[in-house]
Order: sequence, then C-alpha cells, then structure tokens
Amino acid sequence: MTCKKCQQTNEKAHSFNTIGKMSNGTTIIFTCTTDAYTDDDSVNNFQYYKSHFDAIKGNWIWVVDCRDFNTPLSFETGKLIVKYLLQNHKDRLKGFYLFNPSIFFNAFLQLCYPFFPQSSRAKIHTYSDSILELIADLQRIGMPSKDGHALMLKFVKHS
Ligand SMILES: [Zn+2]
Repeated sequence: MTCKKCQQTNEKAHSFNTIGKMSNGTTIIFTCTTDAYTDDDSVNNFQYYKSHFDAIKGNWIWVVDCRDFNTPLSFETGKLIVKYLLQNHKDRLKGFYLFNPSIFFNAFLQLCYPFFPQSSRAKIHTYSDSILELIADLQRIGMPSKDGHALMLKFVKHS
C-alpha cells in the first residue's frame, strides 16, 4: 500500500503496478496513463506519485504507456514528477521506457531534455508502435520471461 488514493481503490488509482524483478534485483514498474486517476490539481497528482516513488526499495525501472498524456494538467504533473525524480531517484531509476508517446508527450520530453544530465538522457527509451520491441529490450537487460508476459498482458489490455 502506498498512496491514500490507491489504498481506497485497491492499488488501482495511479496504475503504479509492480510487474516483477530483473535478474539483478531491479524492480519493474508499469503505469498506463489511461488508468491513472487524476485530480484537477497538479500538485495533488504529484503528491500521489511521490508516495509511490518513495515506497520503492532499491533500483527500479519505469515502463509507461503514455497514450493519455495529452493535457496541460498532465504537462504540469509531468514537470513536477521529472523534477522530483531527477533530484531524488537519479541513481536508482535505471531506465524509463516510454510506449506510445503522443505528440504532446514528445513536445514535453523535448522541453525537459536540456535539464537532463547526459547519464539521465541515456536511460530514456521510446517506442512508438512495437510493444514486442520494448519487451525484447527489457529481456535483453534481464527481465524474466514471466514478467515479460505479465507486461505483455498489461499492454494488450489497453490496445
Ligand atoms: Zn496511488
């Protein structure tokens, strides 16, 4: 259990799903923006995410299906999330795997890039249409097949 909103909704509010672990112990988290609850206040939204980030132990990677990242509110919330992750999870967040980035999301990423150190830029991977490619990349760096399968099911659910 992590943030209050998710405690009320059986962990579904923010679509912050633990998929499994890589062979080196890194936790794989999956979020689909379509499922994530949004308050109409970006600071509230950010606080919910922060509760989730703070509950993660050790290294992690974040797989995000970005299809619904397309409003000024997601933009504002995204800025707060990026700032927090850069300040507090720069070393532990080992990869950021983005599927289905909208034009809006790509614009957001372009604006953020100048603030990212080179080491952080290298951790960002985007995939426009191939879930299989994303999953194959994760398996190459140590994701077990069963976790790859779980991730696949999550993506299929939304396609
Ligand atoms: Zn939550």
